[in-house]
Amino acid sequence: MTETIREFVECESPSDHPVSVNRFVDLVSDTVAPFAAVRRFPGGTFGKHLVCEMRLPGRRKSGRVLALGHSDTVWQLGTLRSMPFRKAHGRLWGPGVYDMKAGIVFFLFAVRALRELDIPAPSRVLLQLNSDEEVGSESSRALTEKNAAGSKAVLVLEPGTGATGKLKTARKGVGGITMTVRGRASHAGVDYEAGASAVMELARQLTRIAGFARRERGVSLNPGIITGGTRSNVVAAEARAEIDIRVIRRRDAEILERRFRALRPFDRRCSIEIEGGLNRPPMERSAGGLRLFRIARKLAAELGIDVEESLSGGGSDGNFTAALGVPTLDGLGAVGEGAHAIHENIRIDRMADRAALLAKLLATL
Ligand SMILES: [Zn+2]
Repeated sequence: MTETIREFVECESPSDHPVSVNRFVDLVSDTVAPFAAVRRFPGGTFGKHLVCEMRLPGRRKSGRVLALGHSDTVWQLGTLRSMPFRKAHGRLWGPGVYDMKAGIVFFLFAVRALRELDIPAPSRVLLQLNSDEEVGSESSRALTEKNAAGSKAVLVLEPGTGATGKLKTARKGVGGITMTVRGRASHAGVDYEAGASAVMELARQLTRIAGFARRERGVSLNPGIITGGTRSNVVAAEARAEIDIRVIRRRDAEILERRFRALRPFDRRCSIEIEGGLNRPPMERSAGGLRLFRIARKLAAELGIDVEESLSGGGSDGNFTAALGVPTLDGLGAVGEGAHAIHENIRIDRMADRAALLAKLLATL
């Protein structure tokens, strides 16, 4: 597994570099070709999406299980030079090793193990790898939803939560809102009264929206970017904030969006425009997802591993499948730390049990 993970990590695949992503998709295709039927789907301006139907033992198949992951990483081409793949301190390090190339490898080894041990899988098994997950999954979403809709369960190969690799039964929904304030420009000295500062108006609005957060309900918002104005001696005609929003419940997103759209300017000479909303619906903790988690926990116990469940503040493509009502279990990939960070790494001592858990799930579901 270490050798395959090294190959995968050393084949860099940043979301915004389709040629590289396609090279990685080819590498995965070559790896699964001996035991799967492979199809590629266009990804628009991104790389190709990959869907592989696994050939697994067992004559009678009923229903389908979808294993879901992504081929892209957040790391720019050439990151390997400063952050090479390496094995140290009982861990594997490198760009994308944790999020989520190791998870893909675990799945491939699970399939190989079932084949080599001739253990039947009761369902057909599809693996789908999207090329644009790290940038919002715009081009893959429809394909994900189509494949999920016909499946009885979705297993997401994203990393687990925390040092022990907790599975994810819920994920926050994620969205982005752009607030544009338009005021009236004027000379800050000669004509100050004639101006209506969009910057001042935006500042007042930001303190107002801070009150929209509901910590106890998991509703948060972050104005991560603000821009506006042209020069310090000009009353600003325009100012803008880009706000990340997160919710645990879909209903809270609706309430939040309504509150944003109801905002009125303090200074009547200014106007406020609200664009955007929820991109990924929340993966709400559901009966179907919990049933999958309980099965996984029982199977993990047979391996001597105690797995726990968790709520993740981040989104994945599992958000889309869960929102369709398809039982979804996420976080089945690597145990490690440092997603999107230079210390990204996975624990070697937890590679075998993660692959084994995936194999057991495929043999059970
Ligand atoms: Zn990921």
